Amino acid sequence: MDVLWAPWRMAYIGSAREQSGCIFCAALAGEPRDRLLLGTTPHSLAMLNRFPYQNGHLMIAPRRHTADLAALAGTEHADLAETLRRAIASLGTVLHPEGFNVGMNLGACAGAGVVDHLHWHIVPRWGGDTNFMPVLADVRVIPQHVLETYDRLRAAFAWLELPSALDS
Ligand SMILES: [Zn+2]
Repeated sequence: MDVLWAPWRMAYIGSAREQSGCIFCAALAGEPRDRLLLGTTPHSLAMLNRFPYQNGHLMIAPRRHTADLAALAGTEHADLAETLRRAIASLGTVLHPEGFNVGMNLGACAGAGVVDHLHWHIVPRWGGDTNFMPVLADVRVIPQHVLETYDRLRAAFAWLELPSALDS
């Protein structure tokens, strides 16, 4: 599938091979905006997808590096579920989507891009957002840069803690 107007895709093509380690663990270590980290709770993190399927495409992951959903502690899963719920609410207040795709891919054969750190995808949807282009040309159009989306969303996600806020 080709993507129109997505200059960060070029960065992806350039960095995919050299990228090592885990983007979710890395998001906890770096400058939050650089890593697209919207914030954390005691057991979860929320970040924007750098290679979104749609504006506002978020990922919710446990802070702990684990691929085993079934082995999550009850408190850990409850925290993740609450972050998922609140993230959907916050996306709604800023972007006013008409629907969402929410889900996770467990394992490479199921389509997981990052196989060893669990994550839920939240993809806001609007009627007609895909328009006719995927049907006709297998092309998606993403009109807004991911950092602009980060800046638009961050205030609505102030219920999450940011590492820089913890440091100050
Ligand atoms: Zn990880």
